[in-house]
Amino acid sequence: MKEDELIRIDRAHAWHPYTSTIDRDPVYAVRSASGCRIRLMDGRELIDGMSSWWCAIHGYNHPVLNQAARDQLDAMSHIMFGGLTHEPAVRLIDTLVTLTPEPLQHVFLCDSGSVSVEVAIKMAIQYQQAAGRPERHRLMTIRSGYHGDTQGAMSVCDPVTGMHHLFSRVLPEQIFAPAPACRFGEPCRPEQIAEFADLIERHHAELAAVILEPIVQGAGGMRFYSADYLAEVRRLCDRFEVLLIADEIATGFGRTGALFACEHAGISPDILTLGKALTGGYLTLAATLATDRVARTISSGDPGVFMHGPTFMGNPLACAIANASIDLLLASDWRANIARIERGLTAGLASCRDLPGVADVRVLGAIGVVEMRTPVSMREIQRRFVARGVWVRPFGRLVYLMPPYVIGEEELATLCASVVSVLGEMAAELSG
Ligand SMILES: *Cc1c(COP(=O)(O)O)cnc(C)c1O
Repeated sequence: MKEDELIRIDRAHAWHPYTSTIDRDPVYAVRSASGCRIRLMDGRELIDGMSSWWCAIHGYNHPVLNQAARDQLDAMSHIMFGGLTHEPAVRLIDTLVTLTPEPLQHVFLCDSGSVSVEVAIKMAIQYQQAAGRPERHRLMTIRSGYHGDTQGAMSVCDPVTGMHHLFSRVLPEQIFAPAPACRFGEPCRPEQIAEFADLIERHHAELAAVILEPIVQGAGGMRFYSADYLAEVRRLCDRFEVLLIADEIATGFGRTGALFACEHAGISPDILTLGKALTGGYLTLAATLATDRVARTISSGDPGVFMHGPTFMGNPLACAIANASIDLLLASDWRANIARIERGLTAGLASCRDLPGVADVRVLGAIGVVEMRTPVSMREIQRRFVARGVWVRPFGRLVYLMPPYVIGEEELATLCASVVSVLGEMAAELSG
């Protein structure tokens, strides 16, 4: 297909994420991608700063992951998981149980991050019902969170930046504590968690679980908060017998400098969700892990089974690639590599602090964030980044970099320099 024809059909019929079909955002047609480079159909090449929404940790078109996909295709690409099992899924489940904290012993494979969050919520509700406390069916969370776009997940997304006003009639009403005010690396003073403590104390009799993103809040605000806060949330959940769901879909597999972000606080959740980087960005796959206590309680209650089972559950092709991706990650010196990216982002983005309109610059692991005082124009900023040969897609007030782990020093420096110059240029134009 020629590029102009492709764009014409796309404009007529494709509905892109969070877009209008009338007032169309520009789209760039991609021919291929490899390593940290995205090649457009018009011949331009972009350095990738997004890892395709935080998934493609090993870069694109990786020979090891490609080979894993080919090998699995020759065996079978899919087989139902009801009553059947296979090595790709069993190996993946065994690896996830080994890598995550010891209490997490049972793995439910899902087709996407949002589905794994729905599964986690259903597990929490079924657990409380089986434990004889059916009145505990609500959820508590912290503001500025993001947990996905499906109904249950939407109900615990930030009520302001999320979709609550549109769907308020159909969404269950959940309990929201303020977003943690204590930053990562700092202690959490008692008054900084007082409102959370007060809410859980007042509402625990109706709460099935607390759900949050540990340490890094992603698409809801790109905030990094104190490990002490997370440790205190764990203590409060235990005290009031409320389950803790950790949503590590964005943070899992090294992104924050720890394999899983819960490690920063030395805690273990009752239920854990994983997704995004699980297959190295090749195919959609997610997982919900539960403790033995959660699984045993659900399985001993009425109706004696966990009520969920996706058609494409445990897809062998996705599981085989996930196994190869995790092997690749663990065989590398990923800790030193993430520390290298953290240093590069810290040095490269530091001068953003002096730009007008910048509210904050923060870096943790392979995540670099420049928070503006006012929302940026996505179309305008996108065009400028592409013109500079980089792929950076901000949202709201947040311009951020989450490059693939294989990013080179020079590519990383180019990404950071582009952020500095694009924001500088836009600030200069605004001030006239
Ligand atoms: C992306 C994300 C989800 C949703 O995952 P999808 O695969 O897009 O459905 C849920 N929780 C967090 C923390 C995420 O970053």
